[in-house]
Amino acid sequence: MFQIAIYGKGGIGKSTMTANVSYILSSEGKRVVQIGCDPKHDSTRLLLGGRTQNTVLDYLRRTPKEDRRLDDVVFEGSGGVRCIEAGGPEPGVGCAGRGILTMFDFLDGGGLDDDGADYRIYDVLGDVVCGGFAVPLRKGYADAVYIVTSGEFMSLYAANNILKGLLNYDDGRPRVGGLILNSRGMDGELEYVRNFADGVGLPIVSVVPRDPLFADAEASGKTLAESHPDSPAADALREVARDIEVKSSNPEMLKYPHPLDDRAMDMVAKGIPVSGSPALEYRRVRNPVDDCWSLKSCAGMGAVAYSKMVRGVHTIVHGPTSCAYMMCCRSDLWTGFRDLHGDGRLVCQDVSCTHLDDSSSVFGGLSELRELIRRRAGLGDECIMVISMCVPGIIGDNIVDLCSEMSDELGIRIVPVPVDGIGAGSASDGIRAVVMKLAEMADPCPVKDPHLINVMGEFRAATDHMSRLDASVFRLLEDAGFSINTVFPGFCDMDGVRRLGRAGFAVRSYDERNNRITCEMVCEGLGTRLMRNPLPRGMRATETWLDEVSEITGRDLGEVKSRMREEYETRLSAIRPRTEGRTAVVVTRPSSDYSWLFEILDDLGVVVLRSRNSTFNRWVVGQTACDGKEPYSTRLAESDAEELAPDIVMSDSQADVGLSARHWRILSPSPGLEGIADWAERLGRAMDAPAREAWR
Ligand code: ADP
Ligand code: MG
Repeated sequence: MFQIAIYGKGGIGKSTMTANVSYILSSEGKRVVQIGCDPKHDSTRLLLGGRTQNTVLDYLRRTPKEDRRLDDVVFEGSGGVRCIEAGGPEPGVGCAGRGILTMFDFLDGGGLDDDGADYRIYDVLGDVVCGGFAVPLRKGYADAVYIVTSGEFMSLYAANNILKGLLNYDDGRPRVGGLILNSRGMDGELEYVRNFADGVGLPIVSVVPRDPLFADAEASGKTLAESHPDSPAADALREVARDIEVKSSNPEMLKYPHPLDDRAMDMVAKGIPVSGSPALEYRRVRNPVDDCWSLKSCAGMGAVAYSKMVRGVHTIVHGPTSCAYMMCCRSDLWTGFRDLHGDGRLVCQDVSCTHLDDSSSVFGGLSELRELIRRRAGLGDECIMVISMCVPGIIGDNIVDLCSEMSDELGIRIVPVPVDGIGAGSASDGIRAVVMKLAEMADPCPVKDPHLINVMGEFRAATDHMSRLDASVFRLLEDAGFSINTVFPGFCDMDGVRRLGRAGFAVRSYDERNNRITCEMVCEGLGTRLMRNPLPRGMRATETWLDEVSEITGRDLGEVKSRMREEYETRLSAIRPRTEGRTAVVVTRPSSDYSWLFEILDDLGVVVLRSRNSTFNRWVVGQTACDGKEPYSTRLAESDAEELAPDIVMSDSQADVGLSARHWRILSPSPGLEGIADWAERLGRAMDAPAREAWR
């Protein structure tokens, strides 16, 4: 079987050419299948007496899997051509390219391959710059490609784009049969097209005249080759059929795609000869996987991580199951995956998923979303957040309108967060989107209480570079004359969200650029004053922080400060006998601020023999900043330990695991005096521990 794809701009005459060629080949005794891959689904109408037939996608949408039969979508047309139409989704919704793939899966699965056809001809819309329409070029579907064009610039432009697309699916063998000039009848049309053809190095396999007989034939629901076989137009169409026959048995006559660059296309438009001018060495788009050495974060993921922290909010992941799985399993795999709706579908605690599948990505997924919201509505959520993933972003689901419509209908708060997966950017963008939506739900509160403070940016699953919210924070804030209004968004419930506006002040729980920007935006909206300094780590930072409190509140905290300093000294002097004069190698990430570490080591009298950078980002293998030389490694840790014989190697890196020297993992202290004093005590105990464990 030889497979041919006929491409071209919409309306250029692809279906007319294709149906005629199919008819000609078929009436010469060849077995031909024609497959229309244009959402317009009128490819085969001239073979079917003017009727448009059921499309495969409509059929798949309506028919349960077990009832599907290939014969329901294959119709026999004139001359015995077997006719299939892919069809497509509603304009503006869904992905027609995905639809074409779905159709191929069905046709292959249904055994179309075994039908013994000599030719299979695909009629493909070619002016949509979407990889989906290139499907017939992939997976070895098309052995030869012909492009229908007229002399009009837009149709040559589309032809050039098709060649660019072909380059991206270059599998090493020539595949382009040539151009079919379907004349519009403009002046000098053949010269225009010949100029382009010379530029791209393709033959014009036939020049089909503009002819009113095409309209005649169409009116009788027939191909011109059938109704007017003796016309010059029919001769021209037979030339196309001949070319296909010749090239199917001589595939070495097929050409490689050589699309033109913009400059050369401009020359084509102006009628300036392009051949001889350097045609575009259009570089093949490199497989992104080759270049992708780390997984970039996803706005959908950031949004879900934050919305699921807030109690009273139910999160709906509008997307495929895999997205929800990725977003939930990281923290909830062991505790949270369960069958929330009793329908056997996996969801995790407080998160459910619309489980978009192949058909929703073809036709749109709003009905799945509507159904899920209805199911949730009776379950007592105060608020439902709907977060969209890439698929709804691409297929054009309008979740904003749906959420507002369903809010009105069901009387609960349904908040759309249309981040569209990676469409809206990185995780930080998704976090910001959710945090801003939450902040918008705060009750308006023009009069602020200067003794209330919001702790902001707190993440429930605090990692080691974030402060943990524990007794030390409460004590610090109390010392500064504050009580906590709400901790936002981690540890927060909907009450906390509503209360947000009451506090006079806000403090960030840790220092990080994206978190700072988000907190600034939230505070600006609420009219709350955001402190410059985050919750402080280490004694000096704590004093600076208290100075800022005095500055913004007018409270005199001199006494508090000196009491703290005194307590710090007392607690450290009890530890110092174990640390004074001991030596350390320190390994830290350069991306975090470790001034508190060097300060406390100094205060404890620990001598730092060497400090090193561990990996810049421990998730990214290979991206390191280790004194500009080699990545920090077990080898380097060993050689430091041997060369310097420190009493302790302390690091935030994995590389010291198994080290023969005494080693200690650095965790950042909780804020305030309490936090750093506890930290120092832990270090003191570590200094006392045996350098080697007993079993070594
Ligand atoms: P496409 O499949 O590329 O969208 P069609 O094959 O449906 O385009 O053609 C669009 C219209 O142009 C049809 O009505 C067809 O009869 C008409 N047509 C195509 N080629 C010619 C031609 N050479 N002369 C006159 N009319 C033509
Ligand atoms: Mg068509």
